[in-house]
Formats: sequence, C-alpha cells, structure tokens
Amino acid sequence: MISANRRTDARDGGGPAGGAYDYDVTNVAPFTIDAVDGDARAGVLTTAHGLVRTPSFMPVGTKATVKALHPDRVRAAGGEIVLANTYHLHFRPGVDVVEALGGLHGFMGWDGPILTDSGGFQVFSLRDTILALDEGGVSFRSVYDGDRAELTPELVADAQRRLGSDIAMCLDVCPPSDAPSAEVKRAVALTSSWAARQRECERAPGQLVFGIAQGGIERELRAQSIEEVVALDFDGNALGGLSVGEERDALFQTVAWAAPLLPENKPRYFMGIGDPAGMLEVIERGIDMFDSVLPTRLGRTGTALTRDGRLNIRNARFAQDGRPLDEECSCAACERFSRAYLRHLVVQDETLGLMLLSEHNVTFLLDLTASARSAIEKGEFAALKAATLARLNDGQTDQEVPAWATHSSS
Ligand SMILES: [Zn+2]
Repeated sequence: MISANRRTDARDGGGPAGGAYDYDVTNVAPFTIDAVDGDARAGVLTTAHGLVRTPSFMPVGTKATVKALHPDRVRAAGGEIVLANTYHLHFRPGVDVVEALGGLHGFMGWDGPILTDSGGFQVFSLRDTILALDEGGVSFRSVYDGDRAELTPELVADAQRRLGSDIAMCLDVCPPSDAPSAEVKRAVALTSSWAARQRECERAPGQLVFGIAQGGIERELRAQSIEEVVALDFDGNALGGLSVGEERDALFQTVAWAAPLLPENKPRYFMGIGDPAGMLEVIERGIDMFDSVLPTRLGRTGTALTRDGRLNIRNARFAQDGRPLDEECSCAACERFSRAYLRHLVVQDETLGLMLLSEHNVTFLLDLTASARSAIEKGEFAALKAATLARLNDGQTDQEVPAWATHSSS
C-alpha cells in the first residue's frame, strides 16, 4: 500500500502547478470503488498527476505521442491517462534526453497521468531479436540499429523512474499464445522472480508500480502467477500475456475466473484490448483499465469506429455522404465534417483526415467507457452491453478486428 508520506511526496514532486488538485492526496486511498454491478466496477485511481476514473481506456502514446493527436485533443476526447513505452523511449530519444527536459510530462506536454510499459512486451513480441533470456534479464537486438541491448528489472525500474511516469509496469516474460506449457511455466517463474526484484527498486516521487501476471490461458499456471505477483503487494495488478493471438472466447473465459483472483481493492489492468465489444467483455468481468493502439491505428488506415460498426471511409459509397461519421458523436470530426469530406481527405492522403479519424476513434472509445461507468453506477451495465453489442452487430461493419490492431505494441 502507499503510505501517507509517499502521497505527500507525490503532490510536492510532480503534480500540476498552482494547486490544480481538487482533492487532498494525503488523505485519499489510491484506489476507491464507487459502485459495483455484478463483477463490473466503477472506481477512481489517484495518481501523482491527477485522478483516473475507471473503467478507463488508456490511449497509447508509444513514442510519447498519441499518434496524430495533440495532447489537448486527447484531453478534449475525454482522455485522463495515456500510455507510453519504455522500450521505444529508451532507444529514441533516450531516457537521458527525456529526463533532462523535465521527464515525460514536460517532454510530451501532457500534465495528466502517464502509465509506462516496461518494454518487455516489445522484446517478446519481436522474438527474432532475442539473444538470451535468463534469470538476470533478457538481451536482444534493438529494432532501431540492431545493437545488442538488455532489459533487467533494475534497468526498467530505473528508466521508468527517470521518465517520471505515474504508473510503472514490471518487466515480465510474455510468451506467444501457442507456446508449449514448459515455456509458459518458465515465463511465470521468471516473471515472479523479476517482479520481486523490481519491487525493491527506487521509484519516482509518487510513482505507483503494477505487477503483471502471466500464465497464458492455462488455469494452474495463471493462478500460480497471480498468487505470486499479488503476494508482492503492488499498487495494482495486470493480466499480461492475453490478447496475444488466442481465441477470443478462451481469452474472456480466462479473464472471467482470473480477474476475481486479483485483489478487490486495487486496480486491475488488462493489457492490450480496445475494440468496443472486447472492452465491454473485460469490464463485465471486473477489469478497471485497458489500453490499445486500435483507435489510432485504425484511424490512420481510414477506418472509423461507430455505434453501428466500422466504416472504411475510403469506400466509394461515402463519396457524397453528407452525414457525420457517427450521428451521436460530438468529437471535432463529427461536429463539423461530413463523411464525404473525410473520405476525400483520406483518399488524398491529407494529414488532417488521419488526425480527424484518429480523434474520432479515440473519442468513441472514451465515450463508450464513460457510458459503461455510468451504467455500472446505475446498476444497468448488462443492459448497456446488450444494447451496444446488438447495435454494433447489426451495423455495417466493414472488417473484423485484425490481431495486429489490438495490442499495445507499436
Ligand atoms: Zn466523432
């Protein structure tokens, strides 16, 4: 748990200047639950740079930018927290540069909460680059220049401390969905051992640290990993190593029994989901936080998420369509521009088209998450989910969720 002292440090250390807080951080539990509805929860996480209302979708800013969105537009879309990635920032521009320029908040011009990934997921998703994996850590070739590099629990803790993120993630071993049982077992053992080491490392003022449970969809290994990581008493806990290519049903079944094994009084983070249906499925099973590159990546490919399914805006059927992307959306794109104009921009490779589609998609997911929260507070989550899914499925969805689009990897 976080001591009263650390919370005071958090306020003095990195919060917005000028008394921007409307709460007393010395007196607030780091995570409070306002309402529950079945297994779904509505809560508030207190960080050194502000509050995060949960369920929370975290837009991904891998390289210290939510792609194509000015930080003010992320805020306008309803974003309360963004994710950045230690692997990429370590190589470009380098943690030294970010630290010298005031840490990640100052560097990227975002004064709200930031969660940093440890970099482990990137290493393990680029398996061909791994040179050695042992108790000490993992060594690999950088995707930037091919040079040998290393991640250890101590190195990722130090990098995240110097980046100054509000939530740091543990280094974990993330095997692919088709890994043999022995490999998953080894991943669980290394993940626990590394978490115990990272738990002891120095943090940025007020920085929270989340543990990550591995174990794939194998019940015994997943339960063991959860037990070992939870025993280390991190500020929050994540389910990692899911959404990596397994069947969706198996993923949701795993979350259904695994999420309740995580402590009730701490935030539960599902790493790497961001399609509308998937978000509702994990919220229903008791997950509080989740992230995905999906809205911005789809935006850059010309796809819009809407309440009636996906639109591939490049399609000729939109050439003279004067309606907004989504009649019920109040984002900058929907307030002002037609599908026909957005199609024109995207087809002509105009930057504004990608910016507007990305902003719309992020807004859409944040609106959906806010609706989920509101429904949980009223005890109406099941009804919201049913109505939302019915409409999504009846709509004119242009394509399935591609596996590459869902995870937080860049
Ligand atoms: Zn919109």
